[in-house]
Amino acid sequence: MARYTDASCRLCRREGMKLFLKGDRCYTEKCGISKRPYAPGQHGQGRKKVSNYGEQLREKQKVKRIYGVLETQFRNTFERAENMPGIAGENLLNLLERRLDNTVYRMGLAQSRKEARQLVRHGHFNINGHKANIPSMLVHVGDVITVKETSRSSAKIKALVENHTRVTPKWIDVNLESMSAKVVANPTREDVDLEIAEHLIVELYSK
Ligand code: SF4
Repeated sequence: MARYTDASCRLCRREGMKLFLKGDRCYTEKCGISKRPYAPGQHGQGRKKVSNYGEQLREKQKVKRIYGVLETQFRNTFERAENMPGIAGENLLNLLERRLDNTVYRMGLAQSRKEARQLVRHGHFNINGHKANIPSMLVHVGDVITVKETSRSSAKIKALVENHTRVTPKWIDVNLESMSAKVVANPTREDVDLEIAEHLIVELYSK
C-alpha cells in the first residue's frame, strides 16, 4: 500500500505548523520547525502572497499529512463525508478520527500516527476479538479495540503502555491494565485538537 516516505519535518515546515508526525521528538528542541521555522527549499524564506485557492490547497495538504492519508483515499473519504447527513467538513474529520490507526494513536499506544499505522499493519490489534490489520478500518460506537494476546509481551507494546502519558479523548475509554479501549461515542469537532479550517477543504473540492 502506498504511503508517504519523505522527511516528516519538511511537511511541518511546508505547512508552517507542527503536525506532530514524529512522536516525542515533536515536543523537544530537536523539532525541525523550531529549528528552521520557514518552508523548505531554496525559496523557503521568501515572502509569498497566497491566493484563495492556495489557502484551500494547503489546508487539504495539511489534513492529509496529519492523518497520513494519500490523495485518492482522502478524496474518497471526502466523497463519503459529503454523502453523510450533517456538515461535510465535520463529517470528514469524524471519518479521519475513526480510522483504526488514528484510534490507536489517540489511545496513546503509539507515539505518532505513523507508528500506529505500522503497529496495526503488523497485526497487533483486534476489534471485538477479530483480527484488525487495516489502518483505514473505521471504528464504531461499542467497538472494543484490544492488543492481541500474543503481542502483549512484545517489548515495544510493553514500553508504550508503561510510558503512557497521553490524555485520551472522551470518545474512547482506555483501560491500560487490559490493554484495551472501548469506543463510547462518536468523535465530534471539539474532539479534534488540531488547528484545521475544514471549510477550506470543502470549498476546494466543491469547485
Ligand atoms: Fe513536525 Fe515533529 Fe518534525 Fe517538529 S519534530 S517538525 S512537529 S514532525
